[in-house]
Amino acid sequence: MRQFKIRNRVYNWLNFKQHITISCLLCRADTTADKPLCGLCIDSLPIASNACYCCGLPMLESFSQVCANCLKKPPAFDRCISAFQYDFPVNFLIQKIKHQRQIVFLPPLVKQLSKILIHSYDDEPWPETIIPVPLHNQRLRVRGFDQSLLLARKLHTGINENSVLSLESRLVKRQKYTDSQQGLTAKRRKTNLKNAFIISKSFSFRHVAIVDDVVTTGATVSEIALLLKKQGAERVDVWCLARTAVLQN
Ligand SMILES: [Zn+2]
Ligand SMILES: [Zn+2]
Repeated sequence: MRQFKIRNRVYNWLNFKQHITISCLLCRADTTADKPLCGLCIDSLPIASNACYCCGLPMLESFSQVCANCLKKPPAFDRCISAFQYDFPVNFLIQKIKHQRQIVFLPPLVKQLSKILIHSYDDEPWPETIIPVPLHNQRLRVRGFDQSLLLARKLHTGINENSVLSLESRLVKRQKYTDSQQGLTAKRRKTNLKNAFIISKSFSFRHVAIVDDVVTTGATVSEIALLLKKQGAERVDVWCLARTAVLQN
């Protein structure tokens, strides 16, 4: 009964929010409190296009599905699907979500990623499970929430009508506290992550998807993909809100 009352109050609050007019965070046009970005701004977010099937980075040439780098040296994961380019305002929104807990910006980004995923697996089998990139407890205490887990949960709910995948939030664990990957070169990112993760239990999944908010060099997801493949996964896909590149040295 008590739970019913609380749920009712939440529904009323959400309903109420639909009628409060606020200004779009990006262009100041009128929108409603449940939609912090107006429709026009959502439609003009920088969508990832002409991306390599394998690494998810934009390709200059469009005659091949896979970029020259992946043909030469394929990454540890098999496919990377990203919704956006990590350009303004997507980078700004992701930073707001991550560092200022402005979770309200997550739904429009997740909606776009869900749409792309449903399209991407039109003629390919879906992974059996979603695995969020784990956050170290120490960082979780500072940040107050786990953005990859939240993203994975929202995707799980959003796309599960089209698939039968599970969510495995405890299969991969972060056993070592590492420096933030931000600002590190590709080489430093790799060494920073050495022995950072462990697989906590045996599993029988053959095809899995790792979920992260932003994939930069791919060092984190590659490290996890390698571990999963060592334990029997045959195919590892990566799903992210945005894909970006850093200088390689
Ligand atoms: Zn707007
Ligand atoms: Zn590639």
